[in-house]
Amino acid sequence: MMWLVECPLWDQGLVRPLLTEAGDIVLMCDSCTTVWCGPDDVESESYSQPAGPDWDTGCGSHVKPGTTKWADMDDVRKAGWGELEWHAG
Ligand SMILES: [Zn+2]
Repeated sequence: MMWLVECPLWDQGLVRPLLTEAGDIVLMCDSCTTVWCGPDDVESESYSQPAGPDWDTGCGSHVKPGTTKWADMDDVRKAGWGELEWHAG
């Protein structure tokens, strides 16, 4: 498991890369499940809180439970995010 930053919102979660069913990667807090489309968005006020029935991320993908998995280093490299300062754990 890898994470990028601590959740900038109201909880103690970690923001982790999430691979969607479509093969896209978004960033999701592992506690409050807030979604950011990319690393730049985490520092802005731009985020979404996907919910059913469509689980739309606002990033062109959806994160319906059961269709996603936490991304690994190979996945984030493919997304062009390999140079970011990832943390393990
Ligand atoms: Zn959070």
